[in-house]
Amino acid sequence: MQQTKQQTKSSRCAVVGCTDPHRSIQNVPASEETRAKWMDFIFECNVPERIGKILFVCANHFELDCFANLGQYNAGLATRLTLQAVSVPSIRRISDEGNASTSGQCARVHHVACQTDRPKMCTVGTQLSVKTLRPHYKSTGLLKKLVKIAQNKECEKLKKWLPSIKKHIYWTAATSTSGPERVAKWTSLLNHVQDIHSHDDPVFPQCLHPLRISRDKSKWLTAGTPAFSRLEKVLTNKRVLKDVGKLSPHYQTSSLESFHSVILRFAHKNFPFLGMLCRLYLAVLHFNENAGRPQATSSAGEPLFKVNFPKYKKGECTAKPVKAEPTFQYVDNLLDLIFHKVFQDPAPYVNEVLKIPIPADLSAQFDKPDKREVVASYVSRFNQGQV
Ligand SMILES: [Zn+2]
Ligand SMILES: [Zn+2]
Repeated sequence: MQQTKQQTKSSRCAVVGCTDPHRSIQNVPASEETRAKWMDFIFECNVPERIGKILFVCANHFELDCFANLGQYNAGLATRLTLQAVSVPSIRRISDEGNASTSGQCARVHHVACQTDRPKMCTVGTQLSVKTLRPHYKSTGLLKKLVKIAQNKECEKLKKWLPSIKKHIYWTAATSTSGPERVAKWTSLLNHVQDIHSHDDPVFPQCLHPLRISRDKSKWLTAGTPAFSRLEKVLTNKRVLKDVGKLSPHYQTSSLESFHSVILRFAHKNFPFLGMLCRLYLAVLHFNENAGRPQATSSAGEPLFKVNFPKYKKGECTAKPVKAEPTFQYVDNLLDLIFHKVFQDPAPYVNEVLKIPIPADLSAQFDKPDKREVVASYVSRFNQGQV
């Protein structure tokens, strides 16, 4: 027999009625007893007399606890699911319910009335499916597309590039001032993944990273390979390029957020107008002095980092540079000013303060009622008033 042809032809799920097989397929085991159970399941107890030598069952037909490496698979460390020793497939799609056999031997098969659209992996025991457990990519549709492509065996190399591509999107947005510049930087990625770091586009003629010989040469993609051409197709899609041209640099918001937190430190509640104004001025002085703080260094002069586990990264950690301690030069300057200038001759400073227009209290716009009337109308549960 032509083994290879047979192999590709039968690398499909043999389970009757399985129309949307899982990528991971399992060979029918050799052990006589287990094999018989598998056969009963695959053919719904009507095992034909002549069966192909090689039969596969896809991962959709097993309970989650049948898998030996579900954790690794979900974490992206394994490309296919493997089974525990004596696992038997037991899950069939609902659409086959009509054909369900009544034979006692097949009693294990669960036919579950599931309410979701894709009842693939739902069983009585668990509502989880392989898909729900997989890490969710909460990013642009573009990344989702790439993740899907990288799942193909021939495009596996793309997997390593996904984090870089994600960073490249933010970097492109944050560092460009014009649409064409953004597009040039964006498309430069297609050269970069091929280990080409100078580009034809005069707007962005050269990668900005230092040129060095990579330790892992296998990561570079080659033009014409399926992985590269599919990446190229996604990145240079007309609609994508149009979106890239319009990306906005939202990197400034983080420094704005930290300014807000400084304000909260200085003016954490409502103060009278002048008190609030002074506190806001102090917050601005503090922020301006400390906004560009350098990274802290150890006594040996090495930059300090701390390791973070942000919630959105689901267990993945990131290194964050530790900033140097804030400085308070502005406090010294203010004290100098107060002791050497204001105390000597306060008049000009008092005049300046008096010039600041202080708005009326918000409550001033309402008529003030007579206090005695308000008190008289106060009726509580214990003081029922003089009715
Ligand atoms: Zn299947
Ligand atoms: Zn490069």
